[in-house]
Amino acid sequence: REPVPSDIVIAGEQKPKPIAQLASELNLTATEFEPYGKHAAKVTLDVLQRLQGSGSGRYVVVTGISPTPLGEGKSTVTVGLSQALYAHLHKPAFACIRQPSQGPTFGIKGGAAGGGYAQVTPMTTMNLHLTGDIHAITAANNLVAAAVDARRFHEATQTDAQLFSRLCPRKAGKCSLAEPLLRRLQRLGIATTEPESLSEKDISRLVRLDIDPERIVWRRVLDTNDRFLREITVGQAATERGMARKTGFDIAVASEIMAVLALTTSLQDMRERLGRMVVAFSRSGDPITCDDIGVAGALTVLMKDALSPTLMQTLEGSPVFVHAGPFANIAHGNSSIVADQIALKLVGAPPGEAATPESAGYVVTEAGFGADIGFEKFVNIKCRASGLVPDVAVIVATVRALKMHGGGPDVVPGRPLADEYTRENLELLERGFANLRRHIENVQKVGVPAIVAINAFATDSQAELDLVRRLAREAGAFDAVPTQLWAKGGAGATELADAVVRCCSEPKPASLLDGFRFLYDAGLPIKQKIEIIAREFYRAASVSYSEEAEKKIAQFTANGWDKMPICMAKTQYSFSADPALKCAPEGFDLPVRDIRASLGAGFIYPLCGAMQTLPGLPTRPCFYDIGVDPESGDIVGLF
Ligand code: ADP
Repeated sequence: REPVPSDIVIAGEQKPKPIAQLASELNLTATEFEPYGKHAAKVTLDVLQRLQGSGSGRYVVVTGISPTPLGEGKSTVTVGLSQALYAHLHKPAFACIRQPSQGPTFGIKGGAAGGGYAQVTPMTTMNLHLTGDIHAITAANNLVAAAVDARRFHEATQTDAQLFSRLCPRKAGKCSLAEPLLRRLQRLGIATTEPESLSEKDISRLVRLDIDPERIVWRRVLDTNDRFLREITVGQAATERGMARKTGFDIAVASEIMAVLALTTSLQDMRERLGRMVVAFSRSGDPITCDDIGVAGALTVLMKDALSPTLMQTLEGSPVFVHAGPFANIAHGNSSIVADQIALKLVGAPPGEAATPESAGYVVTEAGFGADIGFEKFVNIKCRASGLVPDVAVIVATVRALKMHGGGPDVVPGRPLADEYTRENLELLERGFANLRRHIENVQKVGVPAIVAINAFATDSQAELDLVRRLAREAGAFDAVPTQLWAKGGAGATELADAVVRCCSEPKPASLLDGFRFLYDAGLPIKQKIEIIAREFYRAASVSYSEEAEKKIAQFTANGWDKMPICMAKTQYSFSADPALKCAPEGFDLPVRDIRASLGAGFIYPLCGAMQTLPGLPTRPCFYDIGVDPESGDIVGLF
């Protein structure tokens, strides 16, 4: 329709099929899915067991160029491409996307169900509480925070013997060690498991964590852009006996528990990862984990249902998994491994049959942020953990963002676009193409063929679309295809879908024959890994480290934490750490300000520049327009 109506109007005009119907189209058995309302269902990991012997679908990852703050349409292309594959090319197809955080939904950016005629529906369900996974993460995260402060409090007021008698109470004259104490014994290398044979010193080491209040690294979270909680003082009531300390809140999706959910592969693996999360350091510098605090079992209980991906559908009735959504600022910004694994099996060939180009279906998964961040982490963190290998990467580019990289004025959310963006300007576009060229080179560097999806806007001229297409093909992309999926849904992306199918079935070009590879070996020293990413993906000339970063690198290495992959916390607006440095800068220095470790998620994250972990609200936030129509009871104003 012209003009294209708002997302919520489009979504409201389409009646989704009952979720049980979609589940039956996917041949899910009754025990493998659990409906949550009419249009969403949790799908259990049992599917993986049943389809163990089946073939697997083709794995397509959607990434993007360095964007403007408006977003260049990665979610929209992920959803629209799966619609085109399913409803127009008649292939089995699944989209896997992240669950939107309520922060941006009510803040600046709006929801993340795609847009226009390429949407997950009902977008109101998807963008709001959905099946409660983010709430579960909030509950689990804050249980840890409460447990840490409470433990500190109790240790301050009790002797070792008192602590031991409470943590290990006698029943009928005997005491047996609870699981958390047994795990701690093992970690401390104390040989006996008989409480009676523990020496006084062992008891002290076992029960006294001696948390250093200055080195509690675990923060509280909430799913609201409440900037005034970035730094707070807790424990100010008289009941806390002067144990107040400074801490703060992060957005819920920045919790390490979200990164764990996204990277885990089973309930048992999740339990172990939750137990390994480091919450604080003792006064003598030893890391203190969730297992030490004794909270990991309860966290697993809170997170058990969240482990199952949520099944929904696109506007054209194709299946979608919405699952996990780690904050791309400090975590890896990719949807979950288990959703991709289940989807790949559900679109694979029948049990016992190898997937052929004709029979195999497609899973389109999205890597958040620009490709220097999202795709790099998709490869080096997510694929390393899952063992999955992408067949092709789709790089989303817009004429608008390329013009900005070519020297166009800043694009500011909420303000009208400058003329440069609404009138043809081939010169700016060609200059900004260097940004896309580098992303194409980077993707191909790790042995993955790249297809450019040019997400067309109504103001783009044919000459502009043709220019990007020609330049991208010349730069070595497998193909570059203008798409109109926002305005036309799957029908606007059939050429893109066709390119994906061709790319997956044709032999690889000579330049990619070496096949998929990680950018670095996880066993390398921390600095070497950072420098490989900085040089090879960002084209930095050097990396410099603050004193704090140097100290932590030495400490992490001494702790044996240096064998994990690197999760760069860097702006997505530039290849460098300076968001103002557009296009394709090179020869710059990448400053590492600080470095942290996520032992549960399994990565080290260097902070390059200031990274916000709790966004704020603008003067006119999205919530300004959101409400309920008093007549129909429908939600209005979400986008
Ligand atoms: P990303 O995932 O890259 O951040 P989204 O897919 O969320 O980007 O798109 C950002 C916003 O732009 C959404 O509101 C979406 O509806 C809108 N959008 C995407 N593509 C187009 C297009 N071709 N024309 C107009 N608006 C679009």
